[in-house]
Amino acid sequence: MVASDASPQNGVSAATVSTSGTTVESTVETKFEAVNGTVRVNGETAGPLRVETLSVAVTDGDDRATTATQGPGFRLLQAGVGAAILAVVGLDVPGPQTLSGPLNRPTGGRSELVVWWIFTHTARQSGMARNLAVVGAGGAGAAAAYALHDADVEVTVFEKSRGVCGRAATRRHGDCTYEYGANYLKTDDDRVTELVTETLPTDGLVDIEAPVYAFDRTGEIDVGRDADEHKWTYEAGITQVAKRLFNETDADVENGVRVERLERQRDGWRLEDDDGANLGHFDAAVLTPPAPQTADLLGQSRWDHDDCRELRQEIASVPYRTVIAGVLHYPFELDVPWYAAVNTDKDHDIGWLAREECKDGHVPDGESLLLVQMNEPYSVANYDLHPDQLLEEIAQRTARLLDDDRLTDPDWTDHQHWRYAQPEDTVDSDTVDTAADHDLYFTGDWVGAEPRLHAAMRNGLETGETVADRL
Ligand SMILES: Cc1cc2nc3c(=O)[nH]c(=O)nc-3n(C[C@H](O)[C@H](O)[C@H](O)COP(=O)(O)OP(=O)(O)OC[C@H]3O[C@@H](n4cnc5c(N)ncnc54)[C@H](O)[C@@H]3O)c2cc1C
Repeated sequence: MVASDASPQNGVSAATVSTSGTTVESTVETKFEAVNGTVRVNGETAGPLRVETLSVAVTDGDDRATTATQGPGFRLLQAGVGAAILAVVGLDVPGPQTLSGPLNRPTGGRSELVVWWIFTHTARQSGMARNLAVVGAGGAGAAAAYALHDADVEVTVFEKSRGVCGRAATRRHGDCTYEYGANYLKTDDDRVTELVTETLPTDGLVDIEAPVYAFDRTGEIDVGRDADEHKWTYEAGITQVAKRLFNETDADVENGVRVERLERQRDGWRLEDDDGANLGHFDAAVLTPPAPQTADLLGQSRWDHDDCRELRQEIASVPYRTVIAGVLHYPFELDVPWYAAVNTDKDHDIGWLAREECKDGHVPDGESLLLVQMNEPYSVANYDLHPDQLLEEIAQRTARLLDDDRLTDPDWTDHQHWRYAQPEDTVDSDTVDTAADHDLYFTGDWVGAEPRLHAAMRNGLETGETVADRL
């Protein structure tokens, strides 16, 4: 899109608009008038217009004052002479339109209102695809791409890691497959459940049938509240859910690319990686990293607008809990009736202990693979402990909890530090929704209803649909 300037003619501005990708040029004449305390814009326009910049000046004799704000999203302009206040709301102008807001013109004197404006012409030739960048290939990013699979939108997903599905993460060691982030997908969202159990391929889908028990600070493990009706994963690991979503799309998933910076351009966003390399220009961007990382990304971006500061502040305020996960393997089976045990009073060093052998296809018969997630205080206090010492401590605590000395000596281990494991609150949705006026969208478990994979996916689906409507 090309924006063009308009020269002021006492309230009448003319602008030339050209659409990118075509040779079409059209001229638009737009008249600004102050009528009954509102500003009217009567443009004979061919398609939707987006106001990018507006300047207002009120003259009073020889004095002149101009106040301008940059970019869409402005709501109030105040010119110092004659107390003119112009509030403009509604930045997408579909065809001939009135942009209205209160205008308090000074009475008497020789005041006049002059308006300059610059806009982009967002009308498209039919069949001209739009392009979208998605930052992050977790459950939310995959669901957003999936929701756009029938839309006329070219989707490029940038993912800093080598895999997909983010914090719903799977690793392999020898013949073992294990989850070390999200353990399973809950069935709390009907739409996501239907997607996983009916729409996407279901081969290798696993329902963990053994129950979840509970323990408190005393370490007494007992029958607990197994609240989850089904606990879904896949024989090949939970990352399958994102892989299967992406398989249904034409999205281009670029692994090993960390998006470092966004740059606001008049008609979209330019992205850069951590070497400063240009990743391309996109009509819109969807950001999915955990809230603190998304706030950092905004902080590093070139986007000088009040909305950017507000968004960044709001997003950075989402609190997260930190979790250290230890993985302990044993060449023997445990004789217990439960799949997992959860610490209900949050007063034990261990928060969650799960047996990966209860998931079909994960662990060969005759072996045990324990996933031990430590509670927040332990995880924070021991975040920098050397991994050898950390895993020794985790194994000792596990042995004590299960009253089984053999567990102090696993034959192999693994671990993961999740600094931003799960959000403890969600972001204010009204604030993040304002970003859509800037072709910017956010999705993830911190935007959705709860800090869970199904909520991230649900939010991703809805965000993808919003993008399809607005692009
Ligand atoms: C220890 C633990 C246990 C959990 N247990 C469960 C559970 O049992 N059940 C459940 O439902 N949920 C569980 N969760 C929560 C679940 O994992 C998350 O809610 C869900 O995976 C969030 O998905 P998302 O797409 O919002 O974010 P993420 O999965 O974090 O995806 C964001 C993606 O963005 C990428 N990224 C970040 N920054 C950049 C950048 N600058 N450039 C490019 N890519 C970038 C990341 O690599 C990541 O792949 C658990 C989480 C943890 C950590």
